Amino acid sequence: MGNSYERRSYVGMAIDPIHVGTGGAGFGSVDNTIVRDPVTRVPKIPGSSLAGVYRTYAAMAQQAQNRSQAQNPGQKNFFPDCAGLGQPRPDGSGGHCGQKDCPICTVFGFARGNAGGFAGLAAFSDAHVLLFPVATREGPVWITSPMAICQLDEKLHNEVPNLEGDVVYRSERGCKSEQAHEGEQRRKCLNLGWLLLEVKTCDRIERLKNTLKNTLEKYSICNCVLDNLGIVSDKLFPHVVNSNLEVRTSVAINPETGAAEEGALFSYEALPRATVLVWDVTCKNPGYFKIGNSDIEAVRDIQNIFQNVIEPAHPYFEYLGVGGMGTRGMGRLRVFSPKNQQQQSTAQTAEGGQ
Ligand SMILES: [Zn+2]
Repeated sequence: MGNSYERRSYVGMAIDPIHVGTGGAGFGSVDNTIVRDPVTRVPKIPGSSLAGVYRTYAAMAQQAQNRSQAQNPGQKNFFPDCAGLGQPRPDGSGGHCGQKDCPICTVFGFARGNAGGFAGLAAFSDAHVLLFPVATREGPVWITSPMAICQLDEKLHNEVPNLEGDVVYRSERGCKSEQAHEGEQRRKCLNLGWLLLEVKTCDRIERLKNTLKNTLEKYSICNCVLDNLGIVSDKLFPHVVNSNLEVRTSVAINPETGAAEEGALFSYEALPRATVLVWDVTCKNPGYFKIGNSDIEAVRDIQNIFQNVIEPAHPYFEYLGVGGMGTRGMGRLRVFSPKNQQQQSTAQTAEGGQ
């Protein structure tokens, strides 16, 4: 029957600033804060948000596929019925169909039906910041930390050296070109926003950076990012991220007068454009599950789920985005699937499979 589950990592780059709000205030002087990891304080996109967006876009992709095929009258409405939260309309129509032949309800789960609901074959991790762009006097540098790197690949954990607190580690190459242009005094410092840090290199960092580069090249992330990496300690990383978020100020408009509302100035924060995020999608083998007493018919195997349900949603992230403030030009996320994913994930499950 094959592996019982399989996990794939996806990497995405913010094309716009991304605001996934907490729905409340509370961080410094910003009115509309974004969701943060409770332990590290680094902003993230919660897996639950990601799952909801995936569900909607996967349903849209299925619907588009339906429309492009020959119209036959008995075809299912994936969107909006199976896409949303599942509540039927007041007249009883709509809502999750909960059928064994529905790729959306079987993969993302449903809350109703004769069988009493189903948790879904796919599970989504939080999307974590992997590389965070910071303006420096040398142009943008993408900052990461050992903890952030391990979210991409746990195996990198063994390669992480001990890092000093107030230092940014950069590659040899970057430092040498700097040496040629600048005086001895300034050579060893770099500003990350308003933070001025000493620049260092070391062999182990260099090796880690190369491993990271090799891993990310599979995702077709552009070289201007990979050639401008900086690594800081896990302790410093949240400070660098939180002090370089995009903060915008806006004012509410009174719909009656069309003018600015008195006292309605508000600010909101977002992950800046060009932030690189990483998340996992884990799919369970449909052969191991039943809906009611019937086998699942919508998806045959794990490959099928990734290829026909999960990955067709990715183009929609780039156009319709994630999170709030979409009307203010926020949220678009370009998703990169790794090249030769097949090989990689097979290897992964061969190692961890049962
Ligand atoms: Zn359905």
